[in-house]
Amino acid sequence: MPDATFVRPDLSTFCRLDELGLEVTGQRLERHRAVLARRVVEPDRWCRRCGCEGAARDTVVRRLSHEPLGWRPTILEVTVRRYRCTGCGQVWRQDTTAAAEPRAKLSRRALRWALEALVTWRGHVEVEYVALDTLRQHSTGGAVEAPCVIARVSPGEYLHLLPATPHRILGWSLVRRYGRSLIGPPAQKVIPSISEELNKIALLHHVRDWPVWVREMATAGGQAYVVLSLCRTAVFWRLVNRCPRRPRPRS
Ligand SMILES: [Zn+2]
Repeated sequence: MPDATFVRPDLSTFCRLDELGLEVTGQRLERHRAVLARRVVEPDRWCRRCGCEGAARDTVVRRLSHEPLGWRPTILEVTVRRYRCTGCGQVWRQDTTAAAEPRAKLSRRALRWALEALVTWRGHVEVEYVALDTLRQHSTGGAVEAPCVIARVSPGEYLHLLPATPHRILGWSLVRRYGRSLIGPPAQKVIPSISEELNKIALLHHVRDWPVWVREMATAGGQAYVVLSLCRTAVFWRLVNRCPRRPRPRS
């Protein structure tokens, strides 16, 4: 006799996809992400124009980013039926508005997860918003057409704008190389490739600016930030040059 407190395992319910009107039909676990194949549970066979019944025509796949499960990016591949009306010839897709907004890339659960995460992380994590055009302009190393800004939320600070100075490509390079996307496409797909030469130039400019900045860093927090930044620079310089640590002299 089965234990009354347990029911049969059900991936759709476990991943809360039943709330989105979806049912899991398959899974593919990759090294850095999980892909769940699914179908829309409710049929949608009545024409919205004339009310006649539609005949199933073919299917299309809609990809949505879902909330990360087990801190692993999770992608939904939803098979959506297309129908053709037997009366007026109208063609439509199965309704997926329970799963996501029309043309959205995030599932409704993903959107909710992201909003809850923003509240949880507030005061703990620095968030920067950068326009895709800004990334593209800076990654070429050429002249930037117009002054670009980034928006930043730091712990204890209001949302504010900062100039997108060239040294910021150091951070973007690291995100591109080591960043893990929890929602949406991977960083390598969003951030353009930045040459190592450009990284070196940006790094040198950044370090040369520090003697001026340091004079204004009078607080303990500011001075700690100086030390942190220069250590980070040293590590980055080593990564860019791929040079081994200098051996310690024997005593
Ligand atoms: Zn019709």
